Amino acid sequence: MGFKDLANFNDALLAKQAWRLLHNKDSLFYRVFKMKFFPNCSIWEAQDSSSGSHAWHSIIKGRDVLLKGARWRVGCGEDISNPQQQNEVWKLIWGLNVPNKVRNFMWRACKESIPTMHNLLKRKILNEDRCEQCGVESETTAHALWNCSTSDEIWESTPGFKDRSQLGASSIMDLINLTHEKRKNVDLLAMVMWTIWHRRNQLRALATYQQSQQSLINHAAVLRPQHHAQWRPPPANCVKLNFDGAVFPELGKAGLGVVVHNCQGNAIATLSEQAPLPFSPIIVEAMAAARAITFAQELGITEFMLEGDLEAVINSLRSAEASLTTYGHLLESAKSTLVTSNCIAFSHIRRSGNRVAHNLAKHAKHVRGLSVWVENIPPNLYDVLFADPG
Ligand SMILES: [Zn+2]
Repeated sequence: MGFKDLANFNDALLAKQAWRLLHNKDSLFYRVFKMKFFPNCSIWEAQDSSSGSHAWHSIIKGRDVLLKGARWRVGCGEDISNPQQQNEVWKLIWGLNVPNKVRNFMWRACKESIPTMHNLLKRKILNEDRCEQCGVESETTAHALWNCSTSDEIWESTPGFKDRSQLGASSIMDLINLTHEKRKNVDLLAMVMWTIWHRRNQLRALATYQQSQQSLINHAAVLRPQHHAQWRPPPANCVKLNFDGAVFPELGKAGLGVVVHNCQGNAIATLSEQAPLPFSPIIVEAMAAARAITFAQELGITEFMLEGDLEAVINSLRSAEASLTTYGHLLESAKSTLVTSNCIAFSHIRRSGNRVAHNLAKHAKHVRGLSVWVENIPPNLYDVLFADPG
């Protein structure tokens, strides 16, 4: 790169800074500069001043680079746009090697016309725009598809986008440009964004469904006595571990599921683990009980209740005598590690009350080895936690 190129390169960088300043009016960056340098006009009219900082001089210089390509758009909601940039992004999107619905979606995202909370707020459909996924930030399009912390896991497992904080962009259009300039995979970016948006909508639909189900359940509870075993949270200062087993004979595997609830009834940890298939299903149940005990110890839990839906296993756990069953040794060795724990109770519940552990055990079919979640249950497990047993 020669000096001339370097100067052009710098100009491009400066223009980008100015572009961000123009676009993200909620940012602290924008507000600080506005207050200091152009309190009474837009950045387009702002004057360079000798008292300004180096950053301000740079931004003004970037703005002038940008002005060559930008013009006012009269009568449109967004006050400024750069037709040349729009044109390029449009071409880029329509040239992507992705399904048509994804191209369409990306173009709508660029035009700020997907129904994010922030866009609905702008259209006065909502009164606030907080993101329902993370509950922290305002759900702009860039937040919903890129910045939201609830998509960390997805981006971290996407090749080329592991460290997405390096691609700081305030709009999807910016981001597509940046991705393209850095020669990263724009197809992949589009597919992942579409998936994130799809997941967000599914989770919202699920939440609505659950609310309506809950009100149905509440309503039904008033009308008739309960026939189903109902799961209950543990007493104060105690947690409850529900466990269950599942068998996958076609894979030669078994599944172990454990869910830990606190006394408020919130799930604080889950485990889904594959194990070799033993010769009898009842042994899987004992393996799940033993795994629940070691899981509690791994989590540093000293006071807990253990609950399962197979009476024979619970009875063996309760019994002071050594069990002579085929799975007795499993329970004995798990129980022998319990000396340091307090407040332990074993309880039996009918299948319908052990739904979550059951789903986690079945989920182990798709898990390689072990899957453990502590505190924040990942959204991709919601359907496991809330699905009907089957
Ligand atoms: Zn969020």
